[in-house]
Amino acid sequence: MKAMLFIDGSWLYHVRPYLLSLCDDPDFELDYRALPKIVQEQLGEFTDMKIDLVRTYYFGTIAINKPGHDNIRERQFYEMLAKRCNYNTEIYEYDFKNKEVVARRENCLEVGLATTALSLAFQNSSFDIACILAGDIDYQPLIKQLRAIGKRVVLIDVKGNNGFYPVHPRLMEEINLFDFPSIHLDNHISKMHYQRTEAMRQCDSCGREESTTFTSDWFYCKNCREEYKLLRSKQIVEGV
Ligand SMILES: [Zn+2]
Repeated sequence: MKAMLFIDGSWLYHVRPYLLSLCDDPDFELDYRALPKIVQEQLGEFTDMKIDLVRTYYFGTIAINKPGHDNIRERQFYEMLAKRCNYNTEIYEYDFKNKEVVARRENCLEVGLATTALSLAFQNSSFDIACILAGDIDYQPLIKQLRAIGKRVVLIDVKGNNGFYPVHPRLMEEINLFDFPSIHLDNHISKMHYQRTEAMRQCDSCGREESTTFTSDWFYCKNCREEYKLLRSKQIVEGV
């Protein structure tokens, strides 16, 4: 059976501190390569069949034109997902228009995930099981449509604790939404441990070498990143 994993990156980012808190190790980092493996293993147990997890889609947002904010970390994170973890990433720009906060919430990410999942579902033999890593009730229409055309759906979520319960109750309580029990990431935290390794790298701008844990193709040293930040904030003040 073929399965595809659809990840709501905003929601995963929201539950990430909670997942990290489950582990005593202060250097604990999530290994995103482990996610598809965990889902594949669990589905194998649920169905007693061989599961081929053919693709993982990650939907995320990136802040642009946000005063004093350099989105280099976000860009490196998405690059890591695409190159190291083999995810298909769909990243939506979130334009701050040089203001501190943006009042209106944009739903590009949710609509993007639903559109991709549905359009794939209508292509022959794309997948039998849609694995949705999310917690918002916004996905209910998508889940219903997927099931209406005969796809099976499983929710990947967290159980939470101490007042942090990030899955919408209706997503858990409503019957006929899912074909399998939810896969709670809290139960698999030991398989998600990623150890960063430091290495010397040469800055692409000034050529200096620096010890870093960055794994992206391009690398800028601390000095160059600071200079760039300063330059950006000046440009914003001058309205360039
Ligand atoms: Zn440099």
